[in-house]
Amino acid sequence: FSQISPKAIVSDACASYSTLEKLNRRVKPAVDDLTKNTDFFAYYRLNLFNKKCPFWNDENGMCGNIACAVQTLENEEDIPETWRASELGKLKGPHAEHPGKKAQEEKPFRPLQGRLGENVGESCIFECDDECDERDYCVPEDESASAKGDYVSLVHNPERFTGYGGEGAKMVWDAIYRENCFMKSSFPHASKLGAQSLPNGPAAFDFRQVLKDADRKQLVEQHLQNPDLTLTETAMETEDECLEKRVFYRVISGMHASISTHLCYDFLNQSTGEWQPNVQCYIDRLHTHPERISNLYFNYALVTRAIAKLGPQLSSYTFCTGDPDQDAATKANVLAVTQGAASVPEIFDESLMFKNGEGPSLKEDFRNRFRNVSRIMDCVGCDKCRLWGKIQTNGYGTALKVLFEFDNDSKEIPQLKRTELVALFNTYGRLSHSMEALSKFRDLVDMPAESQ
Ligand code: FAD
Repeated sequence: FSQISPKAIVSDACASYSTLEKLNRRVKPAVDDLTKNTDFFAYYRLNLFNKKCPFWNDENGMCGNIACAVQTLENEEDIPETWRASELGKLKGPHAEHPGKKAQEEKPFRPLQGRLGENVGESCIFECDDECDERDYCVPEDESASAKGDYVSLVHNPERFTGYGGEGAKMVWDAIYRENCFMKSSFPHASKLGAQSLPNGPAAFDFRQVLKDADRKQLVEQHLQNPDLTLTETAMETEDECLEKRVFYRVISGMHASISTHLCYDFLNQSTGEWQPNVQCYIDRLHTHPERISNLYFNYALVTRAIAKLGPQLSSYTFCTGDPDQDAATKANVLAVTQGAASVPEIFDESLMFKNGEGPSLKEDFRNRFRNVSRIMDCVGCDKCRLWGKIQTNGYGTALKVLFEFDNDSKEIPQLKRTELVALFNTYGRLSHSMEALSKFRDLVDMPAESQ
């Protein structure tokens, strides 16, 4: 990819595509090692099963539950049971309940060993269950003291094709994109945590329509003729939308693009039973929508910057797994990632946001809307999709919190919760994997069909 166009707005992303790809090639091995081989980052604690969808009744048929998903596959009954959406969407592997406070005091928890270990300080275990920081961009996973989360193995539950789709998934995506409607008068936020807007709220504006047909056609044609073209700026820049709203949209769309990349790349061929990349899925969802790919790269730049900014704080962080050797190895690995991320200093300039025009007044709204996106994840009707949806919204929420709420010069830097750190680095891992998968897809598209 070439340099970003001169029309690009600086803080949308400061680095070129090639810079981001080079960085990813360099840092990805450390990110993979961290997310796959350390207890601390390979397990995520969340309340996956006990939260109801707060926006609509998912028992009345207009839902995102698994029954809706199953109906979307044609002739599902012809598919072997293990390949059905309901099976593919299930969680696998170790899945340990969060120990109660008493049990933790008696026997602290050590995830990978699958048992409660000894000699682990309490400070390494408690995850601020009852606290909600007003600077949070997500509803904390461990928000409710009464409904403790479970530990789920992320390594055993990779994000990939599950067959989830249809009306249920559509409702969730629509509700997420509607959160982009920054209209305070229509959506007053009553509580500190952010009021919940209705999925069919008034005057909902769908940013996906902003790219007009003519602009899209032109972009696609340019992209197909020259895959090295700068994709950062879409026709959205012609719209009179402020930076903050555009950034909100790009984060959502980039996350959506990354999910699509994974499900297309790790796709189940239901006639052969093989897991393999599905080039047509890539063409339909990504290749012919270069602005979505651009938003994914944008997210990579944004999360890289957040991780780089966290570097100094993490150098004194205690990564408690209960095993001092593993703690030291985890920290070394984290620092390898943060230093790699910091090696491209001008990757993203967050300082321009919430500054000019209506910017400052939008910050609280931006935060509340992002919290609502994290709540919408409880409406996702497939366990594995909900798991990764929650991790990624928490990961982006944490990145936004680090970018917009942490002042490195201030003495008062809030400590991140363990779940926030795990979500942040796993979200980085997802983006990193998506970028690699996109590059392989580009090669596959160029290949003659018979050799694919
Ligand atoms: P969808 O992907 O559902 O998109 C709906 C509409 O949004 C499209 O028609 C298009 O207009 C627009 N759109 C699509 N992509 C973008 C973008 N990047 N930017 C802007 N607009 C866009 N399925 C799996 O197999 N595995 C998973 O792990 C998984 N995780 C999911 C997590 C969440 C939170 C949700 C809501 C769904 C998940 N799904 C998953 C389902 C998957 O995302 C799709 O919804 C499903 O495959 C149906 O796809 P679709 O072609 O109908 O379009």
